[in-house]
Amino acid sequence: MNIARLPESVEYKILRRQLLMAEQDSKTLASNARKILEKYNLPTPKELLEEVPTKDKWKKMFKKASNDYWENTWRQELATQSTMKYLQVQHPVVDNPHNLWKSTCPKQHEVQRAEIKARLITGTFILQTNAMKFNKSEVSATCKLCGSDDETREHLLGSCSALSQIREENLTRLNVILSNDNIFTTITQDSGMLIQIILDCTHSSLKDHVILSRDQETDIERWSQAYCERLITHRAQIISSK
Ligand SMILES: [Zn+2]
Repeated sequence: MNIARLPESVEYKILRRQLLMAEQDSKTLASNARKILEKYNLPTPKELLEEVPTKDKWKKMFKKASNDYWENTWRQELATQSTMKYLQVQHPVVDNPHNLWKSTCPKQHEVQRAEIKARLITGTFILQTNAMKFNKSEVSATCKLCGSDDETREHLLGSCSALSQIREENLTRLNVILSNDNIFTTITQDSGMLIQIILDCTHSSLKDHVILSRDQETDIERWSQAYCERLITHRAQIISSK
């Protein structure tokens, strides 16, 4: 766009000629520019050269277009992957980290804790159920802690009887953050909602039941990271002592 603002320059003349002559699949600057504009649903190079937007206007146009593009792309991708169902795509997506990272201080221990949480949200933390999928017959999906159900994310976070004491202790803190007994009861009585608020409290599916302030979103995220870490540590201790 800087070149487009200098119609007297040699670069402008080259770019203009390339735009008029370039083949769709060539590797010239003009051809790449055309592909990017097309991908982000922006005006064509010809339209832009005819009416060159100001630097400020162009910056805003490009930011909005890339945001829309990536938001749509991620939404479509997440919709096809059931392991991603608890993850909320942020709005806007560009230059706006997920609440999980926004709530994390750049300290080693906090980052490690956030990584555990990130793997749980995306379904990439290895529990018995996904270990079984990778190894088929060699691994059982049954929870090694209670032995009574398959070890899924939902089981680990919300219902494993071997972790009920840790769960109860930690849910007290969630009640304090929510500071509303009715909402706390609604959430904890619905296992789907409880798992959702633990994994990603910014998810749109929760908005009908609870409107969280920005501070509450941060507090709940920090609480849930500590909760998940306690569960995972306790789980590892039980498994290694068997
Ligand atoms: Zn269990």
